[in-house]
Amino acid sequence: MKSYILSIDQGTTSSRAIIFDEDLNIVTIAQQEIPNYFPHPGWVEMDADAIWESVKYACRKALEDSGLKNTDIKAIGITNQRETTIVWNKKTGMPVYNALVWQSRQTNDLCEKVIRQGYSTLVQEKTGLTIDPYFSASKIRWILDTIDHGQLLADNGELLFGTVDSWLVYKLTNGERHITDVSNASRTMLMDIDSLTWDEDLLSIWNIPANMLPEINDSSHIYGYTDLLGCKTPIASVIGDQQAALFGQTCYDAGQCKNTYGTGCFLLFNTGNMRINSNSGLVSTVGWKIGDDVKYVLEGSVFVAGAAIQWLRDGLKIIKTAAESEALANNVNDSAGVYVVPAFTGLGAPYWNQNVKGAIFGLTRGTTNEHLVRATLESLAYQTYDVIEALIDDTGMRLKSLQVDGGACRNNYLMQFQSDILQTRIIRPVNFETTALGACMLAGLAIGLFSSYAELREKYQVDKVFEPEMSITQQGKLVGGWKKAVKATMEF
Ligand code: ADP
Repeated sequence: MKSYILSIDQGTTSSRAIIFDEDLNIVTIAQQEIPNYFPHPGWVEMDADAIWESVKYACRKALEDSGLKNTDIKAIGITNQRETTIVWNKKTGMPVYNALVWQSRQTNDLCEKVIRQGYSTLVQEKTGLTIDPYFSASKIRWILDTIDHGQLLADNGELLFGTVDSWLVYKLTNGERHITDVSNASRTMLMDIDSLTWDEDLLSIWNIPANMLPEINDSSHIYGYTDLLGCKTPIASVIGDQQAALFGQTCYDAGQCKNTYGTGCFLLFNTGNMRINSNSGLVSTVGWKIGDDVKYVLEGSVFVAGAAIQWLRDGLKIIKTAAESEALANNVNDSAGVYVVPAFTGLGAPYWNQNVKGAIFGLTRGTTNEHLVRATLESLAYQTYDVIEALIDDTGMRLKSLQVDGGACRNNYLMQFQSDILQTRIIRPVNFETTALGACMLAGLAIGLFSSYAELREKYQVDKVFEPEMSITQQGKLVGGWKKAVKATMEF
């Protein structure tokens, strides 16, 4: 009799439940969209109860569609949007405010105040992160300041905090378990990433009482049991989405690297058991912990990647579908000297410039839609190049290959160009659902369904490998043009 694992992938726009068989094939996927709210410019919120309802729906629908029995599901794994912050009442289990989403900027002033107080170095040393509204700490502070008697209730032990994983496990276990894993905890800006414990100095910066916080566990571990599917199912993994994708790509060892080409790009590089501090605009964070084995990663995020293709479709209306961009790019021999710098929401790693806006360079009377589309696709590859250049500066390591996933990695033109610009092999797996796959693998390890990394690596199927075909001279010329374009964009 076959065994199955259900992965919950809780994201910013939807919740998905994916059932995998023991060979890591997808049996069914069920999904439910969830609204985001924008109460003020720059604020992004979600209804925490709606998150839970959507997860419940997706899990039950996936089971129903699969035709399996509930007892065939041997474990549930959870992977989630990171940093998003929920505070709820310990007695009633009711959220006291909307979930503050990772993108939300309502805590800009709180963060600037803490930076002015001189805490940047301490925070970077303990957490590997840069003080920014992105991470959970300032969001908790904001909720306590905003609700009635927030601080008093928190000090009296009446409130609980969790990132989305904690919230889901709390709900799945009917309030019995208040936990998180190291990868999610490392994004709160409250955990010391060397000792892997909540840190008193960090808590006191934000005046957050320790009694609100979940217990920190391994990423592959039986946290508790849920009756969600109508029987007792173990919850056997919890891991943040980007770290889950790194695991799902079987990047288990130091030196392995994945890049996700979604709305933005997230590049994660496994630095092994050693934490490496970045001097080049990357953050260091925890990958996962299994038993005594802790893996650290360097991470670089690009804000606008696939979103630039959406802009071609919905803003400029020069393509009808994202997929069409490939054929248009292939219609011309080159981008005719056009560079698109899609800094629509500032520039992320390694530039970290919030105020810069996007720009297009190199236009002539002969520039066509095809050139623009091609140059926009190329901007994803150049931005990834910049992050990898920062990574090489920080680690001194040369990248052997890059494993890719996310919607835009379907684009063969983009992947070949990426290989050319990096002068590195690109490996694209058959299964792009690496996030859910990572959670499934970790859950399978916890319940003994899988016994080794070697076994999991054997199940990893490669769809296509892209090898560099461009000369180094040409690559240097193109990268030189990109650097000039970014510099000019930032100076504008
Ligand atoms: P997310 O998880 O961030 O929502 P996905 O991994 O689902 O993103 O990828 C969707 C993104 O990929 C969209 O921004 C879309 O524009 C882009 N995309 C999808 N298919 C292609 C393609 N064939 N070529 C280029 N971009 C694509």
